[in-house]
Amino acid sequence: MTASYIALGSNLQHPAGQLRRAVAALAVFPDSHLVRVSGVYRSKAVGPGKQPDYLNAVALLETRLVPEALLERLQQQELDQGRTRGVRWGARTLDLDILLYGDLQRKSPNLTIPHPAMAERNFVLYPLAELCEPNFVLPDGTELDTLVRDCPLGDLSRTGLQLHHNGPE
Ligand code: ATP
Ligand code: CA
Ligand code: CA
Repeated sequence: MTASYIALGSNLQHPAGQLRRAVAALAVFPDSHLVRVSGVYRSKAVGPGKQPDYLNAVALLETRLVPEALLERLQQQELDQGRTRGVRWGARTLDLDILLYGDLQRKSPNLTIPHPAMAERNFVLYPLAELCEPNFVLPDGTELDTLVRDCPLGDLSRTGLQLHHNGPE
């Protein structure tokens, strides 16, 4: 099993419900085990035009799916939840990104791991840090704590929402 960290985001059609549904789907992904899900954060949209706020979270999924198969499953789930492809970074019902896949580093046309923008995104780093041990190190040797320290909280706020019962394993 490989520890993969998945970023979840939604800013359309009841974002909290969208995230809950996505987590329920992750929990039944084949050859995988949903270990934990972070708290839910509210962030301002960074995309074009005026958009509703996002809700964001990160999930830790242990999986035997290879990265391409994992991405395919995630994209199918986006479609199942009504994601349409419009303008880049436009509003969406669901976005599922692979942040990390074990220690893998790869760049291919449709899959870059670690996710190339994760180091600058507070709505990714803060929830990710909730799931990781202190001193967690990224595949390139950077400490997650360092990235979090250098990334201002800004408008990001943690909500009281919970997506998944993080019970004993
Ligand atoms: P961003 O990647 O900046 O967060 P986005 O999530 O809005 O933007 P999408 O339109 O959802 O971008 O995805 C565009 C493409 O990115 C996908 O079709 C996929 O092939 C590719 N991609 C590359 N690396 C990853 C990754 N680590 N996780 C998910 N998709 C990825
Ligand atoms: Ca994204
Ligand atoms: Ca995406």
